[in-house]
Amino acid sequence: MMVFVLSPAFASAMEYYVATSGSDANAGTIEQPFASVQRAQDSVEPGDTVFIRGGTYRMQESDIARRERIWAHAIRLNRSGRNGERINYWAYENEQPVFDFSAVKPPHLRVHAFSVSGSWLHFRGIEVVGVQVTISGHTQSICFANDGSHNIYEQLSMHDGMAIGIYSVKGADNLFLNCDAFNNYDSVSENGRGGNVDGFGCHPPRDGSGNIFRGCRAWFNSDDGFDCINAHESVTFENCWAFWNGYSPDFKRRADGNGFKAGGYGSTSVRRLPNPIPRHVVQYCVAARNKNSGFYANHHIGGCDWFYNSASRNGTNFNMLCRLADNVTDVPGYGHVLRNNLSFGSRRLVNNLAVAENVTTNNSFDSDVQLSESDFQSLGENQLLRPRQPNGDLPAITFLHLVQSTDQGAFAQYK
Ligand code: CA
Ligand code: CA
Repeated sequence: MMVFVLSPAFASAMEYYVATSGSDANAGTIEQPFASVQRAQDSVEPGDTVFIRGGTYRMQESDIARRERIWAHAIRLNRSGRNGERINYWAYENEQPVFDFSAVKPPHLRVHAFSVSGSWLHFRGIEVVGVQVTISGHTQSICFANDGSHNIYEQLSMHDGMAIGIYSVKGADNLFLNCDAFNNYDSVSENGRGGNVDGFGCHPPRDGSGNIFRGCRAWFNSDDGFDCINAHESVTFENCWAFWNGYSPDFKRRADGNGFKAGGYGSTSVRRLPNPIPRHVVQYCVAARNKNSGFYANHHIGGCDWFYNSASRNGTNFNMLCRLADNVTDVPGYGHVLRNNLSFGSRRLVNNLAVAENVTTNNSFDSDVQLSESDFQSLGENQLLRPRQPNGDLPAITFLHLVQSTDQGAFAQYK
């Protein structure tokens, strides 16, 4: 007798629904939705989709899925999909789910609003607001904490809280796509300096290669827009915009305030440094009016790749500062490859660059072209705030694009 066993590949993918009007005692259908993403996770298998209906989900401390040592994992997503069968957590159609964590204030714990240790997951269209810090010493909270691999974080918006937008210190091959992090400032810890609140932080471990930020924006975060200090593998930033970081929304000065902090190891001892030191890639990005440096090598021990980036009105537009292998001795930047970058509107167009020790071609700061305001289609930074396109892509803008009559060949434009 032949026995046919239905292989998992033939099992049909399930759809579950979560709604503000739902109940976790429901079946999770569109008519009888769950109330919580946490409950939905209990049911999902690889290939399934959780649709999250629009509206505001007012999270409570009683919703915290797990308290462990110094952390409160509020929504804890530890189940994984697999290659070709992601688990999706998607906003339903064009609806906008907003998760408001302003009432989640567990004493002495760091809040990880979405704590993601699963892999092969896809998040899309979720907004997170009001994430709190309760600790007055050194600490940080996080909107999306990624510990997994092969995840996609798409069209997420993390704002008006005290937490980092997305923070990834584990995992490989994650894609952070078309996300926004803005107005984030921790007024509670370390005397309200806000020094840990980056828009996006990616600090991968050894074997954590292939992490990419694409189409993301960061503005008015109290520390940096994008930060990959302490990375043991290369991180790529492309088509991302960082502006007004290190400032409050009324331009009070806050903490570090770099647009792209691409490198460096702080005070890490030499024996704990990665070998080899990774080269980060920053391309087709925009840095405008960040308090400190727009594009910053941050004492990196070696060079990075900087292609087709545009900077204006940062404290320093391109700051290529490097450090010797002792991770102590700061030196002008070496080993960088800088091509087709545009720098305008700062008293420091490029700093800390030992030109002979780098490859620099077709950058505005090493060309004969003298840029003036009339060379640009627009210098209106507010264009950077325009709404995204329906598919989540960045808005089409003319900010820092050159007029036709200016020598376009000297240094090309970000897309
Ligand atoms: Ca800092
Ligand atoms: Ca930072």
